[in-house]
Amino acid sequence: MSDKTYDVAVLGLGIMGLATAFELSRRGLSVVGIDRYKPLHDMGSSHSKNRIFRQAYFEGSFYIPLAKRSYELWKNIEQASGRKLLYEHGVLMWFEKGAQILDSIIQNSQSHEVPVHLLSQREKESYSSYFRTSLLEEAVLERQAGYIDVEESLSCFYDLSRSQGVDFLWEDPIERVEEISGEKCILTSSGKKIQAKQVVYALGPWTLKLLPDLPLQTQRKSVLLFDRKNDIDVVWAIDQGDRFYYGIDNGSCVKLAEHFEGELQDIESIERQLSDDELEHYIDFIHSYVPGMVDQIKERKICVYTNTPDEHFIVDRHPKDPRSIVLSGLSGHGYKFAPVIGEIAADLVEEKPQQYPQAMQKFSMARFSTVSL
Ligand SMILES: Cc1cc2nc3c(=O)[nH]c(=O)nc-3n(C[C@H](O)[C@H](O)[C@H](O)COP(=O)(O)OP(=O)(O)OC[C@H]3O[C@@H](n4cnc5c(N)ncnc54)[C@H](O)[C@@H]3O)c2cc1C
Repeated sequence: MSDKTYDVAVLGLGIMGLATAFELSRRGLSVVGIDRYKPLHDMGSSHSKNRIFRQAYFEGSFYIPLAKRSYELWKNIEQASGRKLLYEHGVLMWFEKGAQILDSIIQNSQSHEVPVHLLSQREKESYSSYFRTSLLEEAVLERQAGYIDVEESLSCFYDLSRSQGVDFLWEDPIERVEEISGEKCILTSSGKKIQAKQVVYALGPWTLKLLPDLPLQTQRKSVLLFDRKNDIDVVWAIDQGDRFYYGIDNGSCVKLAEHFEGELQDIESIERQLSDDELEHYIDFIHSYVPGMVDQIKERKICVYTNTPDEHFIVDRHPKDPRSIVLSGLSGHGYKFAPVIGEIAADLVEEKPQQYPQAMQKFSMARFSTVSL
């Protein structure tokens, strides 16, 4: 690490930090990236095999232009690296009677021309050896969707960033960030002082430790990995109204998790063991809804969501600190957008006009009274 002043210091190297470091260095800026752990660690939000990629967004139609751009960028990065990151196996979502999400998917996909297919009775029944179709009313298939390989995408951004000249500092927690003579000075646990003109905070569930004014909550998420039992490779989800389960088969194992459930716990004291009761809950779900889907359990993991009160992201320049950009509150659905968030962050650093005004308004920090001016 030299004594130079970098154009940008990226604080935190999960998927958001790495995608941002990649894009900034691709544009020719000098960048340093810092993380408290080793590459590919499993303490934060960017681990455990894979992440769903979908574009027919029920969480808000303003996400769809970002999802479309992200799709293009994942493809570009695959091409640039020669590595496979996005598996377009489709996403099949099932709905119990009265589930609200289906209406939003149909509406948003129509208004933004994202093709989805509502399954006929016969098509639904063709899945009856995998799903308990009698309990499920409707199903919708999005074909230009699937999953992203987490380890491959993290290491791809890391390798490309390194080849573009990014300096990396791993296993050195950032203690604080000061401003000295108009520059940012990042102080780490090992005693390093790193200078940069601007900083990008991409600290995931630890964001509050350095930016305590943000209204964020960290939510503990359990994830199970099973041996495969069959050859269904479409990503699937089941919306029960109050609970939402999903499964991703990557050809060697099936990941099973729940989207909405999970206790709010501080990241420093989070319970990192998955209990037998939690396991039992999943086993009940499997028996009731997907009896033919999985075999022996292979692994239990804990992952973390960082939620905002409205579950929309934070992607903005800090209103009280113009040299700081904040990427946080990805609320359990941010991974698919990492390349486009990296692009938006780089535009913020370079003070370029923003491409997604509607989304940027939703993602602004001014919506929180604790940080607005
Ligand atoms: C179980 C689960 C399933 C999910 N499924 C999906 C999905 O299907 N589709 C989807 O799009 N999204 C999904 N998400 C959300 C997605 O994974 C997250 O939005 C994304 O990983 C957030 O990345 P991040 O870089 O913000 O955070 P992180 O990956 O947690 O990275 C933050 C980094 O900051 C570092 N750091 C923190 N504090 C410091 C410090 N003081 N000093 C130095 N370094 C520090 C940490 O070590 C860490 O590496 C899921 C999340 C979980 C947990």
